[in-house]
Amino acid sequence: MKAIDIHVHPYTEEVLAVTPDWFWGHARKTFNFDGSPITVEDMVRSMDEAGVEMSALLAFDCETTHGWKVSNEVVAQLVAQRPDRFVGFASVDPNKHELAVLELEHAVRDLGMRGLKLHPPTQHFYPNDRAHYPLWAKAEELGIPVLVHTGHNQSGGRMQYGDPTYLDEVALDFPNLKIILAHFGFPWVNQAISVVWIRRNCYLELSGWSPKYIPETVWRYAKGIFPDRVLFGTDAPVMTAARWLKDFEGIALPDDVKHKILYANSRRLLFGDEGGAPGPDSGG
Ligand SMILES: [Zn+2]
Repeated sequence: MKAIDIHVHPYTEEVLAVTPDWFWGHARKTFNFDGSPITVEDMVRSMDEAGVEMSALLAFDCETTHGWKVSNEVVAQLVAQRPDRFVGFASVDPNKHELAVLELEHAVRDLGMRGLKLHPPTQHFYPNDRAHYPLWAKAEELGIPVLVHTGHNQSGGRMQYGDPTYLDEVALDFPNLKIILAHFGFPWVNQAISVVWIRRNCYLELSGWSPKYIPETVWRYAKGIFPDRVLFGTDAPVMTAARWLKDFEGIALPDDVKHKILYANSRRLLFGDEGGAPGPDSGG
């Protein structure tokens, strides 16, 4: 089946040069990420091998809290090398307030980025804090989806900011904004499911976990309640697409639901269409 990976941290040389070691500690410990850089060609090759048509590459700005960022410019340059295979998600630091809003506008209008990634546990902010409403408003105005880290964080982030319940109010106050709850909110899985269930502008995203360890309840609601709002992602280098997709074969879901999760739902979010019928099986 065709697939779009909605959650990829590129770790090219220029990205690793600005990223502190602790950020990848989890990937190193749990998933044998050895910390060596890859190239755009390497990324495309492993996408081809796994059967991934496109990947969303994420910038990362936590300058206020930790003093570093993977800039939107760096990610836009990677995307520009293979715009047929990558889309870029901007990152801005919400604690920069007006500047963050301007940077988001620049990233989307001038750099061509197609989404925003936010990481409350690392950027230290509550999503429903009114001080950050101008940023949500700008994302809504630009018509881009926002991928939000929800749940705990293995890289030293502060857990309380990851509670997906805060996004309920954001989703309600910005009804035209598409919000993606990354990592299905673990350990607040039921809360994340509830938010996605009652707010039709919210999406559940499955990255950072092998499908075989994703709680059964996620698959039950994905199939029964909101099959059009569940998204495949890896959180590479935490998880590889090859492994995720291999393990996904063992999950008992109808093929049309699998196609939506792997491809059609992200396609619609990013490009406003469903990209045609399911493609030939590509081994993924
Ligand atoms: Zn991530």
